[in-house]
Amino acid sequence: MVSRVYAVANQKGGVGKTTTVVSLGAFLAAADRRVLLLDIDPQANATSSLGVDKNSLPLSIYDAIVSDTSLNDVLMLTRRVGLDLIPSSPALAGAEIELVNAPSREFRLKRALAPIRDRYDFVLIDCPPSLGLLTVNALAAADQVIIPVQCEYLPMEGLAQLLRTIDLLRANVNPGLTIRGLLMTMFDSRTSLAQQVVDEVRGHFSDRAFATVVPRSVRLSEAPSYGEPIVDYAPHSAGGLAYEALAKEILSDG
Ligand code: ATP
Ligand code: MG
Repeated sequence: MVSRVYAVANQKGGVGKTTTVVSLGAFLAAADRRVLLLDIDPQANATSSLGVDKNSLPLSIYDAIVSDTSLNDVLMLTRRVGLDLIPSSPALAGAEIELVNAPSREFRLKRALAPIRDRYDFVLIDCPPSLGLLTVNALAAADQVIIPVQCEYLPMEGLAQLLRTIDLLRANVNPGLTIRGLLMTMFDSRTSLAQQVVDEVRGHFSDRAFATVVPRSVRLSEAPSYGEPIVDYAPHSAGGLAYEALAKEILSDG
């Protein structure tokens, strides 16, 4: 199988990007796929969610994109077989400024990833909540974008900006970039707004919305503090079942 690289992106904060990267990645690994989680957010929440201390790392993604350190030297194994991690660290917050005058600054991540991507079936990149240079690097390195949409805010205005950015990237940086899907997250069936968001997203993006809708699930919000993905922490919870279903949708792409 050819490796596939997904950037999980939305400039809005707290919509479920990190939860999606970690949960989907772990379910894909549980289905015997080789998976790399790549954390390119200076908050390093994906890194912490896997029980890794972001403040005591000898090397992180920062070193790869700023100093050309090989990702082979940054790579870490996780407790789940088949699930590897390129961790982030708070130092990454300076990278946007440090790279301002660097040549090919949009392509630092793509170049770093090239020598190792074929070892994996899936690479999932966790983006920060902005459309700055780090997200641009993720979108330049990706084949497809997964866009989590929180079912608690009407999303169209923010999505329009994200879609314009993706169009610009396609025109100038990554012609093959496509949207794999919009993933509705934190769905609460008790609120009418949640249903309204689902209807609006399906109305605008019918063929590009995932069939799976992730419900609001306490277990999903607890898992990071145990350093475990939901497949290990609570696979049969509503959130666990949803991300298992999402993994099946991704695997059905063939
Ligand atoms: P940021 O933009 O800050 O990186 P994010 O888009 O990565 O945020 P997450 O960190 O995945 O969003 O989620 C935000 C918060 O909501 C976290 O505390 C997470 O545990 C919680 N959360 C995510 N998805 C769900 C869900 N389906 N049900 C309940 N809580 C959730
Ligand atoms: Mg995040």
